Amino acid sequence: LSKDSGGNTYRFYDQLTQESIEKNFALEAALGLALANQELYLNYQPIVNVAKQVVAAEVLLRWSHPTLGNVSPVEFIPIAEKSNLIIKIGHWVLEQACEQLKTWEASPVLGQIKLSVNISAKQFLYINFVQELREILARTGINPSLLKLELTETAVIDNMDDVIHKIGILRQMGVRIALDDFGIGHSSLVYLKKLPVTQIKIDQSFVHDVLTDSNDAAIIQMVLAVGKTIHCDIVAEGVEQVEQFELLREFGCDYFQGYYFSRPVNVANFEQFVSAS
Ligand code: C2E
Ligand code: MG
Ligand code: MG
Ligand code: MG
Repeated sequence: LSKDSGGNTYRFYDQLTQESIEKNFALEAALGLALANQELYLNYQPIVNVAKQVVAAEVLLRWSHPTLGNVSPVEFIPIAEKSNLIIKIGHWVLEQACEQLKTWEASPVLGQIKLSVNISAKQFLYINFVQELREILARTGINPSLLKLELTETAVIDNMDDVIHKIGILRQMGVRIALDDFGIGHSSLVYLKKLPVTQIKIDQSFVHDVLTDSNDAAIIQMVLAVGKTIHCDIVAEGVEQVEQFELLREFGCDYFQGYYFSRPVNVANFEQFVSAS
């Protein structure tokens, strides 16, 4: 509008940047109200064993905004992280997950289901994280070993000492830890043995081409070998085909998650899925 001397490419880029800044700003403002307006809810994606029985679920956050529609966590979690909203939102997710475990406690079938909750680096490193989780566990009175926290590799490796310390306390409390999206980012197997994690989740990018890419297959077999030596169980994420499931099972994978078994679903559908499996 103001400068017609500048190159089109530059102006186009500039405008796009400006638009995305404004969009993120609007999303951040809306996200700040999402909890109070009850726009957030949880989905559950089954995690199955080698016999295809559901043993656990990953808790996945969903946001349904009246005018923006359904916003993906891939879009809003980074905004929540940058703005510190993740601390409040993450606390709410943990609380909901523990209350759900409490609801299932007396059921012979659902009472066995474990829940895995994604924890952002910023949330995990927050000074009161452990104390607040301790309070949620005390209030709900659930068995802490039914709760697993999923941390990403990158978050862990950038803050090794603090993370090792906190994981140690959590393990003493009975809470379990999974390393999420394993294999991507600047991962190093050396770090792995320092971390008192109980589970490794192989990133779905390796599972995606496991049938056709021998490098991906080799990486998965290597992770499995290392995982076994450090007494971690291994989950394959993003299993979409029966052939992938069968090959991964042959490799010695313990648990599986992906669209082949079920997409993330609401709690009623998850309960139905468990009783039917
Ligand atoms: P993630 O923790 O790695 O979760 C797995 C993602 O893979 C989920 O995406 C799930 O829907 C998707 N997925 C599962 N099976 C398949 C499959 O077979 N094929 C494909 N293509 N995708 C599959 P979703 O729900 O969109 O979540 C994306 C990411 O957002 C999560 O990745 C996690 O990093 C983050 N996230 C979700 N909920 C929370 C939360 O409560 N707190 C935090 N901090 N992050 C969360
Ligand atoms: Mg996860
Ligand atoms: Mg993952
Ligand atoms: Mg992921």
